[in-house]
Amino acid sequence: MSECIFCKIIEGEIPAERVYEDEDVVAFLDANPLAEGHTLVVPREHVERVSDLDPDLAGRYFRPVPEIAGAVQEAVGADGATMAWNEGSAAGQEVPHAHLHIVPRWDSDRHGPIHALFQAQGEVEVDEAGLAQSVRAELQAARA
Ligand SMILES: [Zn+2]
Repeated sequence: MSECIFCKIIEGEIPAERVYEDEDVVAFLDANPLAEGHTLVVPREHVERVSDLDPDLAGRYFRPVPEIAGAVQEAVGADGATMAWNEGSAAGQEVPHAHLHIVPRWDSDRHGPIHALFQAQGEVEVDEAGLAQSVRAELQAARA
């Protein structure tokens, strides 16, 4: 038996308000919503991180997201949404099963963009050419 709370929701062992499901994906309302309509979208397969998803599953996982995101916003009369994955505990991921947050937003809510999370630290020094080369090399190695 999995100890993962999202696997238990997927299996129906823990109740949740499901809003969407298909062969690969389940979406349900967050039990501790940041805003009305806060929805989580998870792959049925237990995968901890988005960066661990194989490309085929990643495609099937993302395929219903536009439709779900649109329906959630319509249902609560939102003006927009913040959509994000927290990847790893450093980023605040609390359940080790990849989950997209869809958080409805309103023009009046004043929460700001995701950039607001990082406002306190000032400018970050980056060697852009060297960094881009490193990312390209990692992608090439991962595909080899
Ligand atoms: Zn799981």
